[in-house]
Amino acid sequence: MFEKILIANRGEIALRVVRAAREMGIATVAVHSTADSDAMHVRMADESVCIGPPSGAQSYLSVPAIIAACEVTGAEAIHPGYGFLSENAGFVQVVEDHDLTFIGPTAEHIRIMGDKITAKDTMKKLGVPCVPGSDGGVATLEEAKRLGEDMGYPVIIKATAGGGGRGMKVAQNAGEMEKAFLTARAEGKSNFGNDEVYIEKYLTTPRHIEIQVFGDGKGRAVHLGERDCSLQRRHQKVFEEAPGPAISAEERAAIGKVCSDAVARINYTGAGTIEFLYENGEFYFIEMNTRLQVEHPVTEAIFGVDLVREQIRVASGMEMSFQQEDLTINGHSIEVRINAEKLPNFAPCPGRITQYHAPGGLGVRMDSALYDGYSIPPYYDSLIGKLIVHGRDRPEALARLNRALGELIVDGVDTTVPLFHALLQEEDVLTGNYNIHWLEHWLETNLGDG
Ligand code: ADP
Repeated sequence: MFEKILIANRGEIALRVVRAAREMGIATVAVHSTADSDAMHVRMADESVCIGPPSGAQSYLSVPAIIAACEVTGAEAIHPGYGFLSENAGFVQVVEDHDLTFIGPTAEHIRIMGDKITAKDTMKKLGVPCVPGSDGGVATLEEAKRLGEDMGYPVIIKATAGGGGRGMKVAQNAGEMEKAFLTARAEGKSNFGNDEVYIEKYLTTPRHIEIQVFGDGKGRAVHLGERDCSLQRRHQKVFEEAPGPAISAEERAAIGKVCSDAVARINYTGAGTIEFLYENGEFYFIEMNTRLQVEHPVTEAIFGVDLVREQIRVASGMEMSFQQEDLTINGHSIEVRINAEKLPNFAPCPGRITQYHAPGGLGVRMDSALYDGYSIPPYYDSLIGKLIVHGRDRPEALARLNRALGELIVDGVDTTVPLFHALLQEEDVLTGNYNIHWLEHWLETNLGDG
């Protein structure tokens, strides 16, 4: 087992990794920008190294600075968290070249799954059901139009290098194709340096269902069921739950096995998430994330496992601590993402926290790096906390969420908390009757957000 690991991230996820490492008796090194000198992850880690100025590009994304921080502190392995360098195959290669261990999959797996066309092709060959669409990239507008006619509108044009909801455009009909095609290409080029796009049938009322998988890198893998992350704004998740209210035990077992078999066959290492759209009882693969997800705690809650601990174990060469038959679901869990954003338009709202009180009690987990007097810097993501509840069943989890939101105090900045209070009044949310468009419609109707 490692003696010391470095965490190449900030905020709640850096704290999350510090906590797992500490329970395992592993020392931690935090890295931080000059804007994060007073951040909680810096205070909680055993050591810290300043790696650059505020801008992410010059600090949390600076590969030389992070490798140098490992060398000066003697850290043997790097946990990347999510975002930043977590899905950067080039970084993983550099880490390995310096005889350090990346706590995550291989550079090759990240490369395969980071390119959406290659990912889809690989998954298709591994027997995973995919959204019908073009065979690989679509080079010209004429070809795109022909495919639109053949498949039938609506279709979605996606940048193969896209992510975070960027580089995707829907064409409802032939008249919208030219704009959608050119915009998706331009967004791919400007955000990800790659203008290749492909086309998929646009599903009109699907749910977003993702399967958590975990592999040991030696051909063994398990699945930990699904999360329903259908409540999204601009393709960004805001409310996640496990198990999915629309998924039966039989469906879970079947799609779970397809996913664990697929990752076992490619000798996948560590945590991964296979994302699907789910409509009329069918699953359609959209992408795989080769890292820990923001919403991993809902899976931890219902299975009673620590996924970060497991990532560290497997990266150090140990066996996984569970097998498929050890994994049984207990109750229901919901996570809401608390962002420093001002409604109705979700404008980022950095600033000083004048008062912070985290909710507690049975079945409540608050993953946050906030504290009284903390100043949220304007340079990074607006996620400031995740409130996760666990109950014996969905109604109990919902009641607990309502109660915990009532206890939470975040003063000094605007947050998305009022959104969740409002959503918990909605019959569709209470019954789990929603798809990926539900929240956008609700926001438009109730807040005029569009
Ligand atoms: P990203 O990598 O940017 O997150 P994804 O491929 O995971 O992109 O898609 C993000 C979201 O976009 C999905 O959760 C879903 O809401 C929507 N989406 C993607 N593909 C389709 C599709 N074929 N039909 C309908 N919606 C889609």
